[in-house]
Amino acid sequence: MLEHVRIHFSSCAGRGYAPRLAVQREPCRRGWVGRSHVPRERLPAPAVGRGGYPAGVSARDALDGRETRTALVRRARRIDRILAETYPDARAELDFGSAWELLVATILSAQTTDVRVNATTPVLFDRWPDPEALAGADRTELEEVLRPLGFYRAKSEALLRLGRRVLDDFGGEVPRTLPELVTLPGVGRKTANVVLGNAFGVPGITVDTHFGRLARRFGWTTQTDPDKVEAEVGALFPPRDWVMLCHHLIWHGRRRCHARRPACGACPVAALCPAYGEGETDPVKAAALVREPRG
Ligand code: SF4
Repeated sequence: MLEHVRIHFSSCAGRGYAPRLAVQREPCRRGWVGRSHVPRERLPAPAVGRGGYPAGVSARDALDGRETRTALVRRARRIDRILAETYPDARAELDFGSAWELLVATILSAQTTDVRVNATTPVLFDRWPDPEALAGADRTELEEVLRPLGFYRAKSEALLRLGRRVLDDFGGEVPRTLPELVTLPGVGRKTANVVLGNAFGVPGITVDTHFGRLARRFGWTTQTDPDKVEAEVGALFPPRDWVMLCHHLIWHGRRRCHARRPACGACPVAALCPAYGEGETDPVKAAALVREPRG
């Protein structure tokens, strides 16, 4: 028999804790709705005036375009607080010991996983520890080290040019400003913001595939252009929160809010998410979708 799943949030949500899910099953009277058993009008509504967001504002309001700017900001910050409680260890998942290592690792992470990059960089940094050493690297040897990452010829070329530029134009030191960083080979705003935020403590927003997808699912933006996403989401949060906000969204995107099958039934921000129901809403099936990033 088909069932609807209603998700209730316990009162701890109003005291600053992550909402706890309680599930009640009901016989289905409406049939299937999309890939979910949960009709849109049954999206979990917040307790009015409680839970850290404004009275009367729900995920449905965002969906219907009725959410005020103030309500959007408060809902966005509430989501970030819940994700911070859910992922207290959130941080850059690339291993690095210096701004130079983070810059190189971030460039190498294109089209591959952080796990694979972390398996490769110890050998790389041991053999060529700084821009000077990398600028003088033997191309064939470098390509062999980078081969497991894919696109190893292009990545080798990028690193050789990067080493030379950092050495010649910045005295062997990674520059500390965005305008300077984006002049380096293979470095765009995303990579520059990763380095600025995680190596130098300069606020920046890193719009990768996870961040953009989640920002749109949360109704924070409708943009797909990374620069526009960065501007619109950045306006919802104080700059001091930007770096950790990125980690929270990226961790949530990698673990629960997957591109193809988000684990909505095991999601701590379900009540605040207009996209609830895009993925699996059955709590047991959704829990099975929660995963750690793989290599
Ligand atoms: S898992 Fe579902 S409910 Fe949670 S953020 Fe993603 S789309 Fe929204």
